[in-house]
Amino acid sequence: MAADNQFDVVVIGAGPGGYTAAIRAAQLGLRVACVDDWRNDKGGPAPGGTCTNIGCIPSKALLHSSENFENAKRHFSDHGIRIESLAIDVEKMLARKATVVRQNNEGILYLFKKNKVTFFHGQGRFEARAAEAHRIGVMGSETMLSAPQVIVATGSIARPLPGLALDEKRVLSNDGALAIPQVPRRLGVIGAGVVGLELGSVWRRLGSEVTLLEMLPAFLPAADEQIAREAFKQLTRQGLKIQLGINIEAVDLGKDAIKVSYLDSNKSAQTLECDKLIVSIGRLPNTEGLNAQAVGLKLDERGFIEVDAQCRTAVPGVWAIGDVVRGPMLAHKAEEEAVAVAETIAGQHGHVDLETVPWVIYTAPEIAWVGRTEQQLKASGHPYRAGTFPFAANGRARAMGDTAGLVKCVADARNDRVLGVHVVGPMASELIAEAVMAMAFQASSEDIARICHAHPTLSEATREAALGVEGRALNI
Ligand SMILES: Cc1cc2nc3c(=O)[nH]c(=O)nc-3n(C[C@H](O)[C@H](O)[C@H](O)COP(=O)(O)OP(=O)(O)OC[C@H]3O[C@@H](n4cnc5c(N)ncnc54)[C@H](O)[C@@H]3O)c2cc1C
Repeated sequence: MAADNQFDVVVIGAGPGGYTAAIRAAQLGLRVACVDDWRNDKGGPAPGGTCTNIGCIPSKALLHSSENFENAKRHFSDHGIRIESLAIDVEKMLARKATVVRQNNEGILYLFKKNKVTFFHGQGRFEARAAEAHRIGVMGSETMLSAPQVIVATGSIARPLPGLALDEKRVLSNDGALAIPQVPRRLGVIGAGVVGLELGSVWRRLGSEVTLLEMLPAFLPAADEQIAREAFKQLTRQGLKIQLGINIEAVDLGKDAIKVSYLDSNKSAQTLECDKLIVSIGRLPNTEGLNAQAVGLKLDERGFIEVDAQCRTAVPGVWAIGDVVRGPMLAHKAEEEAVAVAETIAGQHGHVDLETVPWVIYTAPEIAWVGRTEQQLKASGHPYRAGTFPFAANGRARAMGDTAGLVKCVADARNDRVLGVHVVGPMASELIAEAVMAMAFQASSEDIARICHAHPTLSEATREAALGVEGRALNI
């Protein structure tokens, strides 16, 4: 039998968690292997995980393409730009998306090479015997890797709807929803969370009649209520039909249409007929084929690998990060944990503050927030003051013709420390970085209010919301 390939660190998974951990550990002088099983359409390696292949990157490519189309169709004329004929070439749009994905895959392979990370393409599996949590076999080959430190970054998979198979032709997960070859006339989406809203928006902009069916009675319950209300108003005004508090009874794959039978929020029986159905009801941690429990890793009742605040598992020298552990299922959260674990392994002091992880939904208007919502503070009895500022009163937003939405800043009533910032509006995904920085440095709302912001910029709305905490916004 071939001798083990010895490393200081073996990383299982090359999504944003895994590849970032591998690169950071290698930068710190450790000998690192990273094993990932994702295949491109030619069977070759496609590192980058869900994020790069069927998540963040391709969804943002399609959101950008479809937003361009929508702007050309509805908004360019406001600027005096006349377009005589407009059409969407879906094949070309999907090919562009595939190129963007491939560039990212290749970028990661390049970074591995540059940092001397040894990459193995295949499924990694712990040697099943309890004493061997530090030996990982690469399936389909004779390769055996061993290391005193192992980082599990195996990510997540789409949660299926019980009893409904995803064929990725008519009933689609996010994977199939990113590759529909022609604009469907009627698109049903089960789940009005981040993925459902983003992908529903893509196909609505291209011409589909989109209906989202959401089980929860509230729209985006994790967001600040005021922000969620504004987002609901804007998204439904654009034509997304969003039904809340529904209960799916049956899905019938008829020859001519998919029929979704459900009870609406009044418990009345309803039917939705559609040509394609996206199922976006959340994601499940992925530990399949890993032999995780056989080597002593503990899974919680929802299947996440149990870790402490530093991402240590129950097995010494084995760490777990990203979507496969507790906390928000976000690429940048996985990356933060990756850096913290690599640095801790190298003897430094890694730390992740989950309180300052920002959330973003890339619809138009975008929705982004960090920290606590007003309803959370109310529920916990925390004294706070809030300031808001609408983009309608922001000069740059007016110049852009993009004035829907607002910024809200929530600060501690006792010491003015910023507790949360919530944005619905143009470029919210970029604006939120200032708020994250402010919270990371424990800034007060007055700190944000006293910093000079360039004019005219959207970020002035953040400053005005911070000024609003003391009731002294200048431009409203
Ligand atoms: C449609 C969609 C859009 C999204 N958009 C965003 C966004 O805009 N911003 C954001 O922050 N997040 C977004 N997310 C979430 C984001 O994709 C995840 O949070 C992120 O990918 C998690 O990273 P990870 O490294 O933990 O796991 P993953 O990205 O899932 O990577 C895990 C990797 O490990 C591999 N693997 C699993 N088991 C093994 C094994 N045994 N051996 C070898 N390899 C294995 C997998 O094949 C995969 O390549 C989106 C998700 C979806 C579905």
